[in-house]
Amino acid sequence: MAPVKVTKICCIGAGYVGGPTCAVIALKCPHIQVTIVDLNKARVDAWNSPDFKLPIYEPGLVEVVREARGRNLFFSTDVDKGIEEANLIFVSVNTPTKKSGVGAGFAADLNYVEAATRRIANVATSSKIVVEKSTVPCRTAESMRTILEANSKPGCRFDILSNPEFLAEGTAISDLFKPDRVLIGSLQTPGGRDACQSLAAVYANWVPKEQILTVGLWSSELSKLAANAMLAQRISSINALSAICEATGANIDEVANAIGYDSRIGPKFLKASVGFGGSCFQKDILNLVYLSESLHLPEVAAYWRQVVEMNEHQKRRFAKRVVDTMFSTITGKRIAVLGFAFKADTGDTRESAAITLIRDFQSEKAYVNVYDPQVEDEQIWQDLQEASPLVPLDQIKKQVTICPSAMEACMNAEAVVIATEWKEFLDIDWEQVYKRMNKPAFVFDGRLLIDAERLRKIGFQVTTIGRPN
Ligand code: NAD
Repeated sequence: MAPVKVTKICCIGAGYVGGPTCAVIALKCPHIQVTIVDLNKARVDAWNSPDFKLPIYEPGLVEVVREARGRNLFFSTDVDKGIEEANLIFVSVNTPTKKSGVGAGFAADLNYVEAATRRIANVATSSKIVVEKSTVPCRTAESMRTILEANSKPGCRFDILSNPEFLAEGTAISDLFKPDRVLIGSLQTPGGRDACQSLAAVYANWVPKEQILTVGLWSSELSKLAANAMLAQRISSINALSAICEATGANIDEVANAIGYDSRIGPKFLKASVGFGGSCFQKDILNLVYLSESLHLPEVAAYWRQVVEMNEHQKRRFAKRVVDTMFSTITGKRIAVLGFAFKADTGDTRESAAITLIRDFQSEKAYVNVYDPQVEDEQIWQDLQEASPLVPLDQIKKQVTICPSAMEACMNAEAVVIATEWKEFLDIDWEQVYKRMNKPAFVFDGRLLIDAERLRKIGFQVTTIGRPN
């Protein structure tokens, strides 16, 4: 049997990964029909909106969709038709951390992966290559294969691949255009190897061949968890060092620069901050913790768990510094929180440090003004409600005000907290902000974004992370 030529792709899941990834495949492969399907009608409608008000914000995404949509890129709620037509199907559904039940708080909730897999098995009347795009625990492909084979129609053959996505939100399009590597895992069987070649041929339309890595199925699944765990571990390491800097008078920028010169360490991902957020780092490490515990490797589990605990500590430590610096009480004081997304250049708020900070400020009875250039108001209310489920939304709305600009958020505040590293905060007229704030005017830079010396010259009391005050 020769590798199948991929002509029609279906992607199940039109989220932060499925949408951009398959839009770029469509752009780079005009000969392939790409249909991205999702059960969420509002999301699909937004992908199809005539004025390109897409459901997610990513620099460069609108341009990609504008060029490919209607040509060979389609968005639909008709999941069954998408499955039936395609000869290669990406499963790019959400795999959140389980909220309840066995492994709650750690294990991945594979309910969506299983539902999508069953749908494929029930609908397909011809053979398909099924590609795990979602981040999943090691050996999930085995469960998917069992489900597909147990429910397949006669003559239908399913080959399963793992093709984890390494894009980072905020730079998704440039990451997809020029990935460090594309990883494809397959079973080491003739069918597995052929399927692997079919998918590799799709990526080879724009990714250099030497950057397309082909490995075993389980190695591929584990590599995704491992990559995120190691990235998060680096952040927790630099944040742990930032605490030592604050206590000793060492400067975290100088330390990061000095260690980054070591070619074995390298300079990237060494910026101290209020802590990492996003839908992936915490969830994937907890997944690794759960996997390690299931494999009776408690010391390994404890090692990775500490990365998450350090991150939580960093957020709490920062909130405590805000309170301590403001004379140990923020009751009745107004704090401007600039940024609500978990990082710049995205509207995604999942696990954002801003949520934890605002919840802590609320519980200290402070008033909070919040501003973010991309996050919708509804999302902010939803996140704050989820963070404080016992507090009625009316009460939250009495304490928190969503502002239309950074300047308005800072008006009459006693402190400004930078929670997201949006570049536009660099252009704020800080002299004006200072004039409009109550004195002493505090700035807490949780992202090491602003030139602290410049602000101090204006009159602000500036607290940053890992630097002498
Ligand atoms: P998301 O929540 O933004 O999107 C998932 C989509 O799948 C949702 O729109 C949901 O409606 C849809 N869906 C769920 N079940 C479905 C079904 N049975 N049929 C049709 N549609 C269905 O999630 P995401 O951020 O795109 O993440 C998807 C996967 O990719 C996750 O496993 C995640 O861990 C992984 N990942 C995410 C990132 C990231 O930066 N967000 C990066 C790499 C990998």
